[in-house]
Amino acid sequence: MAHQIPEDGTLLPLMEEFYTIQGEGFNTGKAAYFIRLGGCDVGCHWCDVKESWDAELHPLTPADAIVAKAESYPGKAVVITGGEPLIYNLDYLTRRLREKGILTFIETSGAYPLSGDWDWICLSPKKFKAPRPDITPYANELKVIVFNKSDFEWAEKYAETVSANCKLYLQPEWSKSKEITPLIIDYVMANPKWEISLQTHKFLNIP
Ligand code: SF4
Repeated sequence: MAHQIPEDGTLLPLMEEFYTIQGEGFNTGKAAYFIRLGGCDVGCHWCDVKESWDAELHPLTPADAIVAKAESYPGKAVVITGGEPLIYNLDYLTRRLREKGILTFIETSGAYPLSGDWDWICLSPKKFKAPRPDITPYANELKVIVFNKSDFEWAEKYAETVSANCKLYLQPEWSKSKEITPLIIDYVMANPKWEISLQTHKFLNIP
């Protein structure tokens, strides 16, 4: 039977949750509790969590139970990711987390309306389903995954839509990293408003 997901965000399809170190982007190196919600229709062909796509496969879980687990770890920050977490209304979950003094970070493609109260919004736009124009000004961090050369031009297009103090990152797509990383190094040296983001958790062999 299909999930009946309440619109108030009190139940969410939870794929996995784990305490680890944020491996990429601005918050690299910080201990954080990861909450991965199931469901994504963006369809990146290089996606490394395709098992997240079908929300039906992931149990509806009370947001309060997720908060209680997050609270039990010493690192007081969560990264809400997916899938595409903004498919769901995240107001309730983030409000409860913040009430417990936990910082709220999100990783989103921006393809769905913004909900939730955030300490850090990492917008990672995808070619396959464009981010909503009303979300880009709220990004604290723009993280563009570079899969081929033409992605630099595409990244610049989004850099124009974010706020002036938004951090700008270029990150090699993992399977193309040998070929793409040297291009990113050259690009960042020539265009220093950008920085390099690496998936350090993959080098560290942690989730
Ligand atoms: S947006 Fe994220 S979860 Fe969805 S297909 Fe792309 S990489 Fe995978």
